[in-house]
Amino acid sequence: MTKHPDPIPCTLIRGDGIGPEIVEAVLAILDAMQSPFVWQEQIAGLAAIERTGDPLPAATLENMRDTKLALKGPLTTPVSSGFRSVNVRIREELKLFANVRPGRSLIPDGKFTDVDVVLIRENTGGFYVGVEHFIPIGDDPHAVAEASGFLTRENCLHIAYFAFEYALSNNRRKVTVVHKANILKKLTGLFLETVTDVSKKYAGRVELEECIVDNCAMQLIINPAQFDIILTTNMFGDILSDEIAGLVGGLGLAPGANIGTDAAMFEAVHGSAPDIAGRNIANPTSLLLAAAMMLDHCQLHAMGNQLRGAITKMLETPATRTRDLGGQLSTTDFTSGLIDNL
Ligand code: NAD
Repeated sequence: MTKHPDPIPCTLIRGDGIGPEIVEAVLAILDAMQSPFVWQEQIAGLAAIERTGDPLPAATLENMRDTKLALKGPLTTPVSSGFRSVNVRIREELKLFANVRPGRSLIPDGKFTDVDVVLIRENTGGFYVGVEHFIPIGDDPHAVAEASGFLTRENCLHIAYFAFEYALSNNRRKVTVVHKANILKKLTGLFLETVTDVSKKYAGRVELEECIVDNCAMQLIINPAQFDIILTTNMFGDILSDEIAGLVGGLGLAPGANIGTDAAMFEAVHGSAPDIAGRNIANPTSLLLAAAMMLDHCQLHAMGNQLRGAITKMLETPATRTRDLGGQLSTTDFTSGLIDNL
């Protein structure tokens, strides 16, 4: 008789915009697989502002600290509101210092069929620390805008060791450190210096190469298959991971894991897509691939592979894809098709 894994408590945040639709799809599929997750539902984002006035209620954070594991739908951060991004706050509060975003060609008729890159992004420092202000001059309160970026050597060491250890345990041979140390000489210079130092301990096992971010953006378009692991700072990683998603078919195919020493949170790279919310057309694959990463994280590799296998089958032909990938299936039809393929 097959032994069922022990139940695993997991915080669940449905999120904003298309969040509830894609989370519902993931729950249905994980249910059909009899996954061991026991969901502890919490609120964040717009739903939490409406109910509590705070986009990240203390109870939500406490629950995440307790379960140490979360699956999260995308959250809207209104551009001109006073609220800081909830995503950034969760990463800081739980010290989720590594953001792992794999980009792999899954569509046989896509623009690139040989992309298999993992972007590893420093997740808690850089310009996203949110230290910025306006300096008023005369009667213009916004005469000057100033933003500061912070990176400690400790930040850089953490993510550098994480990336090289990830390379070793995932049979990857090369880390490309992406920076802008020619201009941001201190902020990204410290990153480059620390990664280069750490790489010496992995000499002969994992190769290090370096690339300036603007060149990396172009190289990704010309020959993405040259990259194995890209290791970069917070903002560059945010931008390049959307570019990588674009190479393999779009934001509907891009998962992300936020990993710390004590906790991990899994989500899609994409946002809440308000332009298509509530229309049953969102592609749930990014969050599904994130759920597969969560299964791997919990050492449930067979289930992770089963889920990835069913996704690959659905993406083989446009007939079984959602609209963003040239198909016609709604979110719910894609979900039932995938369940049939499990
Ligand atoms: P977005 O990623 O939400 O959408 C960009 C484009 O991609 C849109 O045209 C959208 O329709 C499309 N798209 C995204 N996901 C899709 C899917 N699963 N299926 C089909 N099409 C999809 O980016 P945006 O519009 O710049 O941001 C909207 C909101 O999301 C903002 O408030 C932003 O702050 C937030 N955001 C949240 C996260 C997160 O929660 N981790 C990440 C990025 C952006």
